Amino acid sequence: MPLVLSEIRDSILLITLNSPPVNGLGLDLRQQIVDAISYAQNDPHILAIVITGSDKAYSGGADIKEFGTIKAVAEPHLLTVIKTIEASKKPVIAAIQGVCMGGGLELALGCHYRVAHPKALLALPEIKLGLIPGAGGTQRLPRMIGVEKALNFILSGDPLPAIDFKESALIDAYFEGSFIEQAIAYAKQVVLDRKPLKRVRDSHIDYPNHEGFLQFSRNTVKTVAAPYPAALRVVDAMSAAITLPFEQGLIKEREYFMELMNTPVSRAMRYAFFAQRATTKIADIPKDTPVRAIQKVGIIGAGTMGSGIAMNFINIGLPVIILETAQAKLDQGIALITANYQSSVKKGKLSPQKLAERLALIETTLDYEKLKDVDLVIEAVFEDLRVKESVFRELDRVMKTGAILASNTSTLDVNKIAGFTNRPQDVLGMHFFSPANVMQLLEIVRGEHTSKEVIATVMKLAQLIKKTPVVCGVCDGFIGNRMVEKYLCIAGFLLEQGATPWQIDQALESFGMVMGPFRMCDLAGNDIGYAIRKRRLIEQPNLKYSKFTDVICEAGRFGQKTGKGWYLYEPGQRQAIPDPEIEAMLMQFRVDNGIQSRIISNQEIIEFCIYALINEGCRILEEGIAQRASDIDIVYLTGYGFPPYRGGPLKYADEIGLYQVVQKLEQFYHLTQDEFWQPAKLLQDYLLQARTITSS
Ligand code: NAD
Repeated sequence: MPLVLSEIRDSILLITLNSPPVNGLGLDLRQQIVDAISYAQNDPHILAIVITGSDKAYSGGADIKEFGTIKAVAEPHLLTVIKTIEASKKPVIAAIQGVCMGGGLELALGCHYRVAHPKALLALPEIKLGLIPGAGGTQRLPRMIGVEKALNFILSGDPLPAIDFKESALIDAYFEGSFIEQAIAYAKQVVLDRKPLKRVRDSHIDYPNHEGFLQFSRNTVKTVAAPYPAALRVVDAMSAAITLPFEQGLIKEREYFMELMNTPVSRAMRYAFFAQRATTKIADIPKDTPVRAIQKVGIIGAGTMGSGIAMNFINIGLPVIILETAQAKLDQGIALITANYQSSVKKGKLSPQKLAERLALIETTLDYEKLKDVDLVIEAVFEDLRVKESVFRELDRVMKTGAILASNTSTLDVNKIAGFTNRPQDVLGMHFFSPANVMQLLEIVRGEHTSKEVIATVMKLAQLIKKTPVVCGVCDGFIGNRMVEKYLCIAGFLLEQGATPWQIDQALESFGMVMGPFRMCDLAGNDIGYAIRKRRLIEQPNLKYSKFTDVICEAGRFGQKTGKGWYLYEPGQRQAIPDPEIEAMLMQFRVDNGIQSRIISNQEIIEFCIYALINEGCRILEEGIAQRASDIDIVYLTGYGFPPYRGGPLKYADEIGLYQVVQKLEQFYHLTQDEFWQPAKLLQDYLLQARTITSS
């Protein structure tokens, strides 16, 4: 199939990019564009050229399949394609509908004229991959829309509708309706009027006080985008556009682009981009696995999680029915949901009418019989296996054949839960994170007997409700909580040995974690971990953890909800205030337990806590609980506030080198004599084989 469709209409050559889904500018497509433009130069019947895409996509930019391959830089490079267009002796008009992003927009900027549908979406999103536009975007765009607008647009990377640029020189005309016909008529008029071959590069940037503005921009990005080198390079490229001749500016842009390609930050962000797309690929579940229709969802329990989970479905128009043990609990749940939506109404993000429509999709009940017609049920009752058992036995009794039964358990054995039913093939874990209507991550827990069809159905549904689903096997804590437990455990031991909660939080926040471990526990509620530990201690009496974490729970310090936890909180405030009482309690604890306090550096804190994540992550991979290393990283990026510019714990391990990781783990093992610090076998094997974790 040709990647470019060419036809001559009324002396105009119409070049339609034809590489679905988004006309990614791969090598073959680039070559065919150059061929078509060159052909048009020599055909006397062609008076002008229109380049367009589909109504969904002019072009989404670079072909992501070519990323990191020789094809991405092979000639004709996009810069060459643009040069060819710009040098055309006949006018070239970009006719833009749908998405026009990255290289797609740079291609359009190389044309002599641009016409667009008002709703076409324009973006230069390279910053989201730790890069700057690399095919003239930083040099041409400010010539069309002005320096300040271009800088903000490139720094945000977000799409804007074409109509937003109507005050600028970027778009020459807007068309709706019979778009292509109008674009061709426009091209004919350009010829008839003998309009000039307008090259963006020839436009002059007139920006008198640019030094002041550029300095202001540098200061701002240094504060708000400190770990991201691309942000500063956008300003530098803009400076080049203002101060240098066009060709030299283009060289500068290219230099910055290549330099950024080799930064760990961009490597991490490009890795995360692909990792995010990979989560839905499951080795033994082909894409064409049949899925079941989900038209109505049941939720058991209207507490914190149940009410948040329900919102995900009504947001996309799926009716839900919520079951509870008492009417008062149902009322509380509905009140929680309503309050949540009402805050969106107050902020103007949701209309009162939409609020009413969404609430109308919720039915409530105390009667299991009402769940008969439901296609999927998600249980979110207390974290107690006996309670789960009674719920699943009831569900098994009433639910129709083929319905899917999911549990939102955080720690319980999904295989045991499936065993309470006569249909383990239809049972799985759907582990939402709190707040369930906000958090992007959803762990899909595949039980021993869960059918492929059930997994495929839930993966699809997860995408519909805009979650990032990550499949994992059954183990205590699944991927995320199993790792975080080790991390919190180490943070607890560091406290006992001499650190304070605020020192540990600050150290990890300086590493880039959105929130340090103690602020995180105060937010989630310290009572949750306390209850889990009590349960675990029955099964594992020798469980290792810092007993000081129990001390604060026994003092009623559950976190933000009680106004006191690891920190103090003013009523109604979320700001964590260091509390001298905690220091006094810690000192007493050390005396009571004969612990000699020592000075602990921030570097040591970071290494202990992050290496704990790496080691446990490798064990999870080794055991086949996670399908691939990048799934583990995605769990940490989307659910636990791991810094995006580090790509996740396992990508970070590769970046610092496995030799360094294994050596440190061995050091920790000698220091603590704790088996946990023995480097995971996978780490040792990969080190010997000179492999990396995330590219295996
Ligand atoms: P919650 O205490 O806020 O809510 C539980 C609700 O279940 C209560 O409203 C209770 O009345 C109801 N309930 C109890 N027994 C019931 C029964 N037999 N039938 C119907 N309803 C019943 O608890 P939560 O925080 O929403 O947690 C619910 C589940 O989600 C637990 O399994 C928990 O481990 C898991 N989870 C919690 C979080 C979190 O951060 N809170 C995160 C992920 C998963």
